[in-house]
Amino acid sequence: MSKDDVVTNVVVTNTAVTEVDAGLDDEAVVLEPHAFGELIRLLRERGYLTLGPTVQDGAIVYDEIESADELPVGFTDRQEAGEYRVERRSDEALFGYNLGPRSWKQYLFPPRLRIFAAQRRGVDFEIEPPEAEPPLLAFIGIRPCEIAAIEVQDRVLRGGRYVDPWYAQVRESAFLVAVQCAQAAPTCFCTSMETGPRADQGFDLALTELLDDGAHLLLVQAGSARGREILTALHSTPPTPNERDRAEAATRRAESQITRRLDTEDLPALLEANLEHPRWADVAERCLSCANCTMVCPTCFCHTVEEVNDLTGDRTERWRLWDSCFTGEHAYTHGGDMRPSTRARYRQWLTHKLGTWNEQFGSSGCVGCGRCIAWCPVGIDLTEEVAAIRVDRDDLRSSGEGS
Ligand code: SF4
Ligand code: SF4
Repeated sequence: MSKDDVVTNVVVTNTAVTEVDAGLDDEAVVLEPHAFGELIRLLRERGYLTLGPTVQDGAIVYDEIESADELPVGFTDRQEAGEYRVERRSDEALFGYNLGPRSWKQYLFPPRLRIFAAQRRGVDFEIEPPEAEPPLLAFIGIRPCEIAAIEVQDRVLRGGRYVDPWYAQVRESAFLVAVQCAQAAPTCFCTSMETGPRADQGFDLALTELLDDGAHLLLVQAGSARGREILTALHSTPPTPNERDRAEAATRRAESQITRRLDTEDLPALLEANLEHPRWADVAERCLSCANCTMVCPTCFCHTVEEVNDLTGDRTERWRLWDSCFTGEHAYTHGGDMRPSTRARYRQWLTHKLGTWNEQFGSSGCVGCGRCIAWCPVGIDLTEEVAAIRVDRDDLRSSGEGS
């Protein structure tokens, strides 16, 4: 099933919203890996369309899964700036990889969504709402930084004055099965953004995969009443102290592997004070304005609308489509382009994401997932760009010129 099918063909069977607890459930349980298939079955029985990681076209991407066999069992990913590879592991890990190019944004804020249609009726016209009802979705394998990304989009798309009804409905009913990271990619910098590698809230269930010590197990914690209800229906055992220790060690291992850093101190002020910094021209020499970084980013929400008319002129549909601050038309308004150069577009993206987003929505627009670094075809790394601007500022300060 494609993401377009998800958008158009799925009918909501249950939109009950369950409050997610603020903290962890101490009553964690341990599951054998084969019980994971049972978890998927239970969610499907309750009407959820179960979505999770799959291997497709050389990447790990989220799509519908009907059984645990469809997970990327025994696969890992290798990532660096401008590089991404899926490779075999030496074990049968269910979640032994980090992030692929597609985020959960594709389901909450679909790339293409019909907002409404207008049909002429004599001298009048009738407005038709979207054909499809928002689906009831279970996100299986959501990482801590991705939970944080959804929380960022919550503030944009349902937390303010203008609520996106599709987003709000899918989000409120979605069942989140998190996976705590037991390894990190070189592109990850969630520790700088305080979004990982462990999630303490925002999920219905959270799994930690235990692979060491010769026993492959899943330690599972509930974060909501509906998570607890599912957990009680699964065959499980209480964790031993050793299994709890191993789960904590897995998070510590991931944390120790994170070497990429973004210094966030005074970041909005730093960027605002450096809008004419020569680094913007430097990065523009490398940037292709391809928009990959914004497409893979789990928080970017730029979009455009298109009217699609039929040949009779009696019917028109309005579609919302993803757009990007890197495209030529995005900043075109009233006969002029506000950001005609790549320099201006990259600067807009970075200063909004890391700077003015705070003022507008109350947090950074970046969660440190590293997708924009891995999927930039020329390997542009926002952490390096910020560091270059910061170093210059610090050099000026130490020489007494910048104070
Ligand atoms: S800006 Fe890059 S690192 Fe930050 S959330 Fe977006 S894709 Fe992830
Ligand atoms: S920074 Fe990289 S991914 Fe983003 S528009 Fe430029 S070339 Fe494309």
